[in-house]
Amino acid sequence: MSGHVLALSGGVGGAKLAAGLGAVLAPGRLTVAVNTGDDFEHLGLTICPDIDSVLYTMSGRNDRQRGWGLADETWRTMEQLRSLGEEDWFNLGDRDMATHIARSWRLRQGASLSDVTAHLARAMGIGHAVFPMSDDPVRTQVCTPGGWTDFQRWFVGEQCGPAVTAVRFAGTPGAAMAQGFAEALARPDLAAIVICPSNPYLSVDPVLAVDGVRAALGLRQVPCIAVSPLIGGRALKGPLSKLFSERGLAGTNLDIAAHYGALIDHIVIDRTDAKDADALRTGGLAVTLSETLMKSAEDQARLARAVLAAVGVEC
Ligand code: GDP
Ligand code: CA
Repeated sequence: MSGHVLALSGGVGGAKLAAGLGAVLAPGRLTVAVNTGDDFEHLGLTICPDIDSVLYTMSGRNDRQRGWGLADETWRTMEQLRSLGEEDWFNLGDRDMATHIARSWRLRQGASLSDVTAHLARAMGIGHAVFPMSDDPVRTQVCTPGGWTDFQRWFVGEQCGPAVTAVRFAGTPGAAMAQGFAEALARPDLAAIVICPSNPYLSVDPVLAVDGVRAALGLRQVPCIAVSPLIGGRALKGPLSKLFSERGLAGTNLDIAAHYGALIDHIVIDRTDAKDADALRTGGLAVTLSETLMKSAEDQARLARAVLAAVGVEC
């Protein structure tokens, strides 16, 4: 089957699969709806870390060594800001700063985040649609022993140190799907929904918390396939494994599947986690084993092809 593909993505992990899907699908066949729960205002700028990860990775501009931000980056503005006594807990590269300035300026002129994101995607030469999950502000907050904290303060400022006892998405309910996201979900030629290998609690749950998303996924007429962010039973990077243990969970693919429940029909897991396959199948899911580590553009495209083949979508 040909048709359109809708991918739900967070930042770095999700962006790599979104880039692979973008590379193997003809222009215009993919819509990526991106988490905006991590967005925040900093030094007068509106920063959307996950949208930027998706834009930079889909346009091949991301820094693979550092794992975030733009390649060929310099940091002189940050040094100067530091010398002026401004906050330096959130690192901003010189070239990355241009994205934040352009976004903030356009938002201030009255454009929506959807418009600004579409503009940035076009300017970066991306031939697919990238939308924020919502144009309404949603802000992820984590509850730690010190109380509720804004996501970036915990994630970057405190390097995910304090234990998390709860997560909330301020602004939900009440945040509407971005129009482009809602339209992609309703397309008559929609062929599959892909949940990228992003952190389920911090990157995918905020997307699912947007008004109408869970209901629309529940009524889907097409397969929904998730790619696990676990490799060898652990998150490659970031706080996912820590969040699992703080919830008293073993943190295997069974926990990922249980978390998504009836929202998914199919899961792609890494070959190193083949031992999970039988139990996942017993739970009613279709399971595909693949190499899910994406170190290169070829890896991204290979995994994207495996995902599409698993749900019978031609590329
Ligand atoms: P963030 O918003 O930048 O924190 O990124 P995401 O939530 O999109 O992705 C974080 C998750 O991506 C982590 O749990 C990682 O385990 C996972 N991840 C990162 N790179 C890869 C990869 O190459 N393959 C797979 N399967 N998962 C990955
Ligand atoms: Ca993120």
